[in-house]
Amino acid sequence: MSEAVLIIGGGPAGLAAAASLADLGVEAVLVEKEPELGGTPKKYAYSKLVPDLRPAQETLAPLVQRVQGREGLRVLTDARPTAVSGKAGDFKVRLAGPAGEEELSAGAIIVATGFEHFDARRDTKYGYGIYPDVVDIRDMERMLSEPQLKRPSDGQVPQRVGFILCVGSRDRMVGNTYCSRVCCSVCCVQAIEVKEKNPSAEVYIFYMDIRTYGLLENLYWEAQEEHGVLFVKGRVGEILPRDGQLMVKGEDTLLRGPFEVPFDLMVLASGMEPGEGTVQVAELLNLAREPNGFLAPRDSHTAPLEAAVEGVFLAGADLAPKFSDDAVAEGAGAAVRAAAFLRSRAGR
Ligand SMILES: Cc1cc2nc3c(=O)[nH]c(=O)nc-3n(C[C@H](O)[C@H](O)[C@H](O)COP(=O)(O)OP(=O)(O)OC[C@H]3O[C@@H](n4cnc5c(N)ncnc54)[C@H](O)[C@@H]3O)c2cc1C
Ligand code: SF4
Repeated sequence: MSEAVLIIGGGPAGLAAAASLADLGVEAVLVEKEPELGGTPKKYAYSKLVPDLRPAQETLAPLVQRVQGREGLRVLTDARPTAVSGKAGDFKVRLAGPAGEEELSAGAIIVATGFEHFDARRDTKYGYGIYPDVVDIRDMERMLSEPQLKRPSDGQVPQRVGFILCVGSRDRMVGNTYCSRVCCSVCCVQAIEVKEKNPSAEVYIFYMDIRTYGLLENLYWEAQEEHGVLFVKGRVGEILPRDGQLMVKGEDTLLRGPFEVPFDLMVLASGMEPGEGTVQVAELLNLAREPNGFLAPRDSHTAPLEAAVEGVFLAGADLAPKFSDDAVAEGAGAAVRAAAFLRSRAGR
């Protein structure tokens, strides 16, 4: 019987789980496959965050600080699990890390392996990966982290910037029918950032529906009313290069007519998918996945942070697309569930 918890994934969810276990005085090991902690927002240098437009790197830094130098918490980067045997209360986990292979024992495991961005090359009509000035929202986060927004092809400041929502989400042709939940709000924030950096820029958002759900609806109004971002309900069918610009062809579904307009930079709101790391851990631990490939909890109503496999707990964007505040809350929740599980097994 081991009283330690293994946490797989050092993004917002895994960091919150690790810090919460340290707060509870439970021994834990946090394993992250990348060289740095911080998850996807760190790896892709996100710019300003939904909902309050605070800079991502300084806003999320306290999550990393909370796990540093904590008693009873070991943090391993550049490492990932390669084999798991045993059962709840006494899992034997083989890890591959920079110092080679090692085996450790864990009484419980928290899976916080997060997501990957949809690869926009899979939707060929937009020319991502072919035309340098067609970028996705992940590229745009990095570009907006720079003091000035420049388009990739020639380093010029783009005057006409367009966003296309629902790329790789809500689309049967690419095989993802779910809504990625964050991209409408993220695009509103990115559009506001474009206008903040260059107030004379013309910014358009092409949408099917706007899903700035819950309290995020204010971003939709702020983008329009305070920053002059224009929203066009319609579908873009094609992007083609013409005379140093991108010609965007589509149909305005409110005005019921075709459009063909030039842009300097087009941004694809590519959605969230379960990543390779999640698939790998699901196979190692024999975890159930829902039809879109995200991890499935034992019961989404009564045990949303527990896997069907005893002793395994789940948190974050490996369960479904979500914002980082939900991922952090789930990480803390999974930590409590794992600690309670170990205590009940120890008869305390
Ligand atoms: C373009 C974009 C912009 C966004 N902007 C915002 C925003 O403004 N505000 C906001 O709140 N949210 C935003 N989000 C959502 C936010 O990124 C997620 O909610 C958050 O990253 C989820 O945290 P996580 O820890 O669950 O997953 P992740 O951040 O993906 O972290 C998971 C970690 O697990 C690691 N990992 C995976 N597999 C393994 C393995 N097998 N072994 C070891 N380690 C592994 C990964 O390397 C990664 O570091 C945005 C998302 C997108 C797509
Ligand atoms: S959040 Fe918006 S852009 Fe993203 S999939 Fe849902 S409707 Fe489309």
